[in-house]
Amino acid sequence: MAKHKPETKAIRIQTTKTAQKEHSTPLFLTSSFTYDSAEDMAAAFADDSLDVNIYSRFSNPSVDEFINKIAALEGAEDGVATGTGMAAVFATFMTFLSKGDHIISASAVFGSTHTILTKYLPKWGIEYSYFDMDKPEGIEALVRPTTRMLYVETPSNPGLNIIDIDFVSGLCKKHNILLVVDNCFATPAVQQPIQYGADLVLHSATKFIDGQGRVLGGVIVGRKELINPLYLFIRNAGPSMSPFNAWVLSKSLETLFIRMERHATSAMYIAQQLEEHDAISSVKYPFLATHPQYGIAKKQMTNGGGIVTFELKGGIDSGRKFLNALQMISMTNNLGDSRSIASHPASTTHSKLTEEERRAVGITPGLIRISVGLENVQDILDDILQALAKS
Ligand SMILES: *Cc1c(COP(=O)(O)O)cnc(C)c1O
Repeated sequence: MAKHKPETKAIRIQTTKTAQKEHSTPLFLTSSFTYDSAEDMAAAFADDSLDVNIYSRFSNPSVDEFINKIAALEGAEDGVATGTGMAAVFATFMTFLSKGDHIISASAVFGSTHTILTKYLPKWGIEYSYFDMDKPEGIEALVRPTTRMLYVETPSNPGLNIIDIDFVSGLCKKHNILLVVDNCFATPAVQQPIQYGADLVLHSATKFIDGQGRVLGGVIVGRKELINPLYLFIRNAGPSMSPFNAWVLSKSLETLFIRMERHATSAMYIAQQLEEHDAISSVKYPFLATHPQYGIAKKQMTNGGGIVTFELKGGIDSGRKFLNALQMISMTNNLGDSRSIASHPASTTHSKLTEEERRAVGITPGLIRISVGLENVQDILDDILQALAKS
């Protein structure tokens, strides 16, 4: 398998076939596994490093297939899967941070990640500092002797801020800090952070990896020496991935590359078409030359991904009117679906924040986020244009 290209690995990596010689991998929907003898059972429990399945909180063939595929696509040695993307974030913090430690994070992170950093980690004596993704030169001044981890999302949700992974990994190596990258918006079909020096890469598999809005999941990949303690945390604490979800996600990976190509081609076209629109003050998309980190995006991503954002001149009221005027595009907070989705963070997901707090995470009053789906691109654009006319 090593010689094959990533697109092929996403399709061909498979759990060892059963005696039925099935073509598509079966679903291993079992909570536990059996042994041929008391001695085999004793050996399985005595040695954590034995490659045997004991209980599906620890490991399961359907989950292993999904992990093996993601690890291969990200260029990682090993990985672990979790029940949701947030379980992957939380397990990473719990495994590598202890009382008295310090974490540096981009301020533009997913809402629940922000809540864990600011509300939960301090309860356990773990301190955090935020930096502005548009000013990465400010990161080094935040490093303390107790800093253990640097955490970034690139591109960020929903602001589409981008950071130079190579640059931050240099800083992390200099100060002996773990670099963790949330690669959810790009997926390994578009960006492989390990190639630029990230230590751990995590995903909400709920988004583009599933790609059809069906199941929740998370995954973390990296070097074996980092995955082993993560595995032990997950095996004991229990935020494990369900075999059913793993089976769905593993099949989804077979179409990840062609889906991401189409998401990106359509997203680029829509971004270009909206750039000159009268109701819009600015459009943001990683592969538009006007994106503040366009050069970095071109260096570390193979396409701009499936998310476009734009700012309505009419602010918060126009945002509401725009959502209400949509005829096809779904109003929901998920993203990375075959169905196009629109959201207006200021009046929905981030409505409880003050306007100042929203600005700090890149959410302006008229910000609309479009997750460009796989429908005919003209149908998607037409719906956006008719809704803009009513906003
Ligand atoms: C959705 C999301 C998460 C959380 O994932 P869940 O699967 O919803 O728990 C984390 N990071 C980013 C960037 C996300 O978009």
